[in-house]
Amino acid sequence: MTSSASGASGAADLPDYAPIPRSALGPALNDQRYYVGRVERNLYWVTDGVYNSAFLTTGDGVVVFDAPPSIGPNLRRAVDEIAAANGVTNRVTHLVYSHHHADHAGAASIFDGDVTRIGHEETKRRLERDNDPGRPAPEITFADRYTLQVGGERVALAWHGPNHTPDNIYIHFPGHDTLMFIDVVNAGWVPIYNVNLSEDVPGYIDAPAIALSYPWTHLISGHLGRLATRDDVAVHQAYIADIEASAREALAAVDPIPFYMRYGENAWAGVKANLDTVAERAAAPIVAKYTGVLAAADIEIFTYTTTFQIMQSLRLDTGLGVSRPVNP
Ligand SMILES: [Zn+2]
Repeated sequence: MTSSASGASGAADLPDYAPIPRSALGPALNDQRYYVGRVERNLYWVTDGVYNSAFLTTGDGVVVFDAPPSIGPNLRRAVDEIAAANGVTNRVTHLVYSHHHADHAGAASIFDGDVTRIGHEETKRRLERDNDPGRPAPEITFADRYTLQVGGERVALAWHGPNHTPDNIYIHFPGHDTLMFIDVVNAGWVPIYNVNLSEDVPGYIDAPAIALSYPWTHLISGHLGRLATRDDVAVHQAYIADIEASAREALAAVDPIPFYMRYGENAWAGVKANLDTVAERAAAPIVAKYTGVLAAADIEIFTYTTTFQIMQSLRLDTGLGVSRPVNP
């Protein structure tokens, strides 16, 4: 298919994909390649079209939520622009980490000096492990819940178990009708490879229902260029539920024996043929159903690898087709 990807004309040989629905795209970027918009009142979001960050302006200082390096210094510009327009301080006093990943946190060190960084205790453990100067470990950590109060505003941070990462938290703005929850739902788009590069598949599958259990109208989801709605979460849930149902069907329908017989003592060749066959059977109808519904659903490798991960979770976490009860 992509025969000469390494050749000089590689990009010209790459496949075409379905047009991106207008509804999956966000507002136009400015000349400096960012957009900053009001979510509600003094809560703002910033995007470069692919990543999202947010900040809250208060009389006592600005609270920044995530600092993706792709937005980088434009995050500082966005804060300065809004603070100047509203006549409030542009001094960043707090930075909240949604999770430890470098692509959402790697520009944290832009805000140095008197900034207090806040994150889950596992975020601190991982940032100390990763030892990246762009992502200083948080000074304030919590295990389950933390309420941040700055300048009369309240932000509720909560950990409800592992999902995309073991440290990924829910950031609720009760006074702004908003939830920030990163890297599970991509607003209007499919998850990328392997369940959006997630570590805990059952946690990832359950997380949207936890997100929906909060009251909010606006979701800052981390990707891509616009805010998400409750409907976006529902479509994401339907996509994942369809994958799970399709994987169950395929696991039940595909007989593994012929694959192992075909390869004899090469057990891994049998495993590959069997699992690949199940995943391809399960993923194909999902690609067809969601092309035109979720942007990039026709990039088949995304849905295929996500289906593969969910199929493995069904086998290994729930025991489907692997473990059988001894007694009925
Ligand atoms: Zn992440």
